[in-house]
Amino acid sequence: MVAPLVVTILGSTGSIGQNTLDVIARHPARFAVHALTAHSRMDLLAKQAFDVKAAVVAIPSQATAERFKTAWADAPNRPVILVGAQALVEVARDPASQAIMAAIVGAAGLPSALAAAQAGKRVLLANKEALVAAGSIFMATVRESGAELLPIDSEHNAIFQCLPQHERASAPQGPAAGVRRLILTASGGPFRNQRWADLSKVTPEQACAHPNWSMGKKISVDSATMLNKGLEVIEAHHLFAMPAEKISVVIHPQSVVHSMVEYEDGSVIAQLGQPDMRTPIAYGLGFPERISSGVGMLDLALAGRLDFSQPDLKQLPCLALSFQALKAGQGACVALNAANEVAVAAFLERRLAYTQISQVIEDTLSWQAGQSTRQLESLGDIIALDEQARSAARRASAI
Ligand code: NAD
Ligand code: MG
Repeated sequence: MVAPLVVTILGSTGSIGQNTLDVIARHPARFAVHALTAHSRMDLLAKQAFDVKAAVVAIPSQATAERFKTAWADAPNRPVILVGAQALVEVARDPASQAIMAAIVGAAGLPSALAAAQAGKRVLLANKEALVAAGSIFMATVRESGAELLPIDSEHNAIFQCLPQHERASAPQGPAAGVRRLILTASGGPFRNQRWADLSKVTPEQACAHPNWSMGKKISVDSATMLNKGLEVIEAHHLFAMPAEKISVVIHPQSVVHSMVEYEDGSVIAQLGQPDMRTPIAYGLGFPERISSGVGMLDLALAGRLDFSQPDLKQLPCLALSFQALKAGQGACVALNAANEVAVAAFLERRLAYTQISQVIEDTLSWQAGQSTRQLESLGDIIALDEQARSAARRASAI
């Protein structure tokens, strides 16, 4: 019998983390779990760790460690508890696991995702902010270490599936031969047909009510503003070594076509499926084999029709700002992501109006453009700029 693939899940209590555990539970002989990490929800983490017999958990503080111990009660074989941000890097590097699901939300997930890449593991990358903030460093690390990189974001997983076989699971240095364009689909989110200026009263509940996907709060808001699609364009640029002008976005409200690759001969290859993240997660876990994910059949007759339209950048300032940042370079991408994280957190806490999110990003990009050009060659360089951009974003919006 083949030994199981040992997996560590960074961010196991989140939407992607829970879906990953769901897929793993369907294949007890094929996968084992070494470590789980979470920032909150210690009850859920304790339950997950118990169910999969995790050897290690990594959590943020002594206070959460106490909560974890209380939740564990007197069950047998309590996992080793590691505490603090550095613990995430340690579990990502730990040779006890061969594959890492990087499913922490935000730039907080960058050091651990990078550590997994440095250690030459199979990296299942859901944390798109890592690539937005540090795409060049991340991809160079994958190349040097020989890590296996599998995109989990549904659009990038779709593109990966549609690319030629020899381009797989690595860090390409140029666009795949014969590819003319990558076409990312976007549902358009809950406010698809509304004007940006009319959205100032939008509440966190409305913004998080995505029509097709069930996700964490931050990415749900990003999907509503379509900053998410902007992050994904930047992500695609790094993952597939594609110049910005060869990446386009099309609105597709049904979220059935997850993205497409257009070839020089005019062929367009698409990946279709239900909007359920267990498909790309199972693809990444099982690669190169296909394994069951729990996702049901796609009933195209029930879907009836598939619509496509051009995004209106005038009504989607966050998407327009993302294209601007990608053109301006890595520093601008760090600032875009940092400002958005600050703005979305403030919006979710009802301290910032929905329509101010784009303003905070715009102000922070202006701040960054006024800074002298600096080297962004190490994780430390990126983190320093990220922190300064967060301060600039807070100053800009008095939040
Ligand atoms: P989520 O908010 O549901 O879960 C986030 C996880 O990260 C939780 O386990 C949380 O405890 C942990 N976490 C939060 N802040 C942390 C910090 N500062 N340090 C350490 N851990 C922290 O988020 P999600 O929806 O699962 O998304 C995770 C990542 O995957 C994001 O980068 C998102 O953009 C990406 N992604 C998600 C989906 C989806 O369907 N949910 C789809 C594509 C990509
Ligand atoms: Mg996506």
